[in-house]
Amino acid sequence: MPKSATYKLYIDGRWIPSESRETYSRVNPANYNEILGRFQQGNAKDVDKAVDAAEESFEKWREVPPPKRGEILLRAAQLLRQQKEELARIMTKEMGKVLTETRADVQEAIDTCELMAGEGRRLFGRTTTSELRDKFAMTVRLPLGVVACITPWNFPIAIPAWKLTAALICGNTVVFKPSSDTPICATKFVEILEKAGVPKGVVNLVTGPGSIVGTRLVKHKKIRAVSFTGHRDTGAQILKDAGVGKKIGLEMGSKNPIIIMDDADLKLGLDGVIWGAFGTCGQRCTAASRVIIHKKVRQKFERMVIERTKKLKLGSGLNPKTDVGPLVNKTAQDKVTGYIEIGKDEGAKLCCGGKVPKLKGWFFEPTIFTNTSSDMRIFQEEIFGPVTSLTEAKNLDDAIDLANAVEYGLSSSIYTNNIRNMMQAIKYLEYGITYINSSTIGAEVHLPFGGIKSSGSGWQEVGWTAINFFTDEKTVFIDYSGKLQRAQIDIE
Ligand code: NAD
Repeated sequence: MPKSATYKLYIDGRWIPSESRETYSRVNPANYNEILGRFQQGNAKDVDKAVDAAEESFEKWREVPPPKRGEILLRAAQLLRQQKEELARIMTKEMGKVLTETRADVQEAIDTCELMAGEGRRLFGRTTTSELRDKFAMTVRLPLGVVACITPWNFPIAIPAWKLTAALICGNTVVFKPSSDTPICATKFVEILEKAGVPKGVVNLVTGPGSIVGTRLVKHKKIRAVSFTGHRDTGAQILKDAGVGKKIGLEMGSKNPIIIMDDADLKLGLDGVIWGAFGTCGQRCTAASRVIIHKKVRQKFERMVIERTKKLKLGSGLNPKTDVGPLVNKTAQDKVTGYIEIGKDEGAKLCCGGKVPKLKGWFFEPTIFTNTSSDMRIFQEEIFGPVTSLTEAKNLDDAIDLANAVEYGLSSSIYTNNIRNMMQAIKYLEYGITYINSSTIGAEVHLPFGGIKSSGSGWQEVGWTAINFFTDEKTVFIDYSGKLQRAQIDIE
């Protein structure tokens, strides 16, 4: 990653500068004196070119047999595997999370490529019965056309892989707009797809501001679907901008709870809380930003959490001794700082952390608030930093009510050894994901991933559900009776 490198857009199989002729720079969040490169400030003209290229290549790409498309994805998986360590290091420098996590991010992309390669030999429709004689009924899956994939920075290769591989195996062509904070990871991933054999125009990369590049894409008449992951407010804007005629998949933020019951294995729960709250410096859509603790074990568990949190080491994610890396940028650091003041003003007790340490990056001390209640903003709003709040619950029903008392619904967890508690949690927690005796984080790519309520629009990512999003499931009737047969009328 030479410091002076200038990265390009990728449109119609060529690496080219933006029509704007403007670039922006990105620095290492763990050391803001280190400039990582210059990146194209894409604009509406770039988006139009990319969409046109994707539209033109669609006619050929849709004719490529899906298993052949799958072979390309398998090659991409091999290339990702070969470059795993290099990509992980680039990612840690670009967005801050520790190496063990950036390796996992690349691994998730490998897993997704392999999963979606296999889909090339499935893409199942259904056959079923007909109410009429000599009539055959089935569904077939067809690609949508040109799709927009808009991604955040916190999983800068895994999330693009989720979206692009599913879109491609289904026969769509793609305009990919990554976060402006992680353009290098996006570029590396597209380079790998190019090397793996994705034909020109099938995948196009446009970097630049969401307000310009993202908005143009979302409003574009030739875009058939927008697959977006990011902040709830951006998702709400996209819904407004898209208009009718497009499929809109939104995966957004959350305020995920871990419930600790009185019968829980507290040591296990402690590991889950620390990993859930402070992994990726708390910057995960599935971060455990609330811990709801049964009153009988509340004091003891609070002490355990605070003691462990104080021991966490901040630093560069490249250092193997680091537990918690930096926040992604100055805006994020200011936002987290703001929430510390909000929490204190609301009457929550700041038990540890709460400060910006004297380091050259955008670090923030791992922070615990106790004495928190459901009417507080720090309980309700996504802080997206290393901050978690501990709240007491009277019993299981109260814990579930507290867990559900937010607008979000992505991931949830309960620690208990009681089968009834587990089953009640599965039934009543209003979340897209529920973990039993494990933290709120740890998705696997062959299962659906998605939030409900304000966390998602109902289309789930990866698993088999991604195929539903990236295809039209067309219903087909074949009548071989040789006469007009009217459904609901000509029944015997
Ligand atoms: P963000 O919403 O600021 O940006 C996401 C993407 O949208 C970026 O590429 C951005 O440039 C683009 N964008 C911005 N404005 C746009 C507009 N008006 N039209 C179209 N595109 C626009 O989010 P972020 O800061 O990159 O990511 C953090 C957020 O993402 C958090 O809320 C987190 O919870 C959420 N997230 C959700 C999931 C999930 O699967 N549910 C996964 C990871 C992150």
